Amino acid sequence: MQSIYDFTLKELQEQLKPSFRAKQVYDWVYKKYSTSYEEMKNIPNDLKENLTQNYNIDILNIAKKEKSTDGSIKYLFKLHDGHTIETVLLLMKKKKISEDGVVERSEKYTVCISSQVGCKVGCTFCLTAKGGYVRNLTVGEVVAQIVQVKKDNDIPANKAVNIVYMGMGEPLDNYKNVVQAIKIFKQEEGLAIMGKRQTLSTSGISSKIAKLGKEDLGIQLAISLHAVDDQLRSELIPMNKAYNIASIIAAVKEFPIDARKKVMFEYLVIKDKNDDIDSANKLVKILNGINSKVNLIFFNPYPGTTYERPSVESMIKFQNHLIKKGVICTIRESKGLDISAACGQLKEKETNED
Ligand code: SAH
Ligand code: SF4
Repeated sequence: MQSIYDFTLKELQEQLKPSFRAKQVYDWVYKKYSTSYEEMKNIPNDLKENLTQNYNIDILNIAKKEKSTDGSIKYLFKLHDGHTIETVLLLMKKKKISEDGVVERSEKYTVCISSQVGCKVGCTFCLTAKGGYVRNLTVGEVVAQIVQVKKDNDIPANKAVNIVYMGMGEPLDNYKNVVQAIKIFKQEEGLAIMGKRQTLSTSGISSKIAKLGKEDLGIQLAISLHAVDDQLRSELIPMNKAYNIASIIAAVKEFPIDARKKVMFEYLVIKDKNDDIDSANKLVKILNGINSKVNLIFFNPYPGTTYERPSVESMIKFQNHLIKKGVICTIRESKGLDISAACGQLKEKETNED
């Protein structure tokens, strides 16, 4: 069955009559995070009946929840067919002291969402890849992750969160559903998460990057580059044989990015594989002419992998070298490291415990 989260307001207005009812339902779903039609007080009974018969509303169940000491929360959601996906709420606390000495505290939320159960791409460093590919998430399953996380943490409706498509799966392999989800997230009457608050991370399917650019959704792009030569990149990301570094860079150069924003290049640092200064120099060359920033990620080991986590020193050396060459470069904070951080790792734990 389809779900209530599958549709933009306009689409729902075409299905529910009179159409103002669609707006009321949208309000319950996205502003009050309602997961039952029963509690929708201003909706007449016959419409409630119609909705119950035709649109699932309770599609994600929390199977497991782990809280990290830094405040981030990792969810394992159970889908209707019993498969599970991960979603992570990352929390950043901000402290601002105004001129008259008043301390203002605010919180910035970022939700890392999944787009597939498993993944086809098969990166050799990624735990999600180990389980193989199971299926694409539906539009509703992508959208409901944000609603459920906002609901579970009492995040007010008017507080927009940031979204990163960096959980399980390759978003561009589930192109149609992800694009529809992006549009639903942007709905003013719904979650109202502007394009610039949404960052899609891809392992680099060049043809789909080009297609996505043409949709003009105003979203941010992150490229999982991880290697500067095609030989190593093909070892890490087998798909690189079809979509090599040059093709990705060409697609990125065409991608419409707000002039004040940058394309993010993720670079997973693996000890003795890609953490040398020669690689850093090649990276500078590759990024030449692109308004970009680099995010270095510590490889997060898991049982059975032969890859190793780099030392903090080599990471900082790599970063400093890039900065010296004029590249904007940050090191990803190991948020949630104590709660099995990288993608696919909570799911793995759950499977082991079964
Ligand atoms: N499929 C997309 C988005 C999901 S993966 C992509 O590959 O970009 C999100 C990020 O997690 C990617 O940058 C990926 O490289 C990273 N990742 C995967 N396995 C990891 C590991 N073991 N340690 C650290 N980061 C990892
Ligand atoms: Fe898929 Fe991304 Fe993992 Fe590669 S890193 S296997 S693309 S989820």
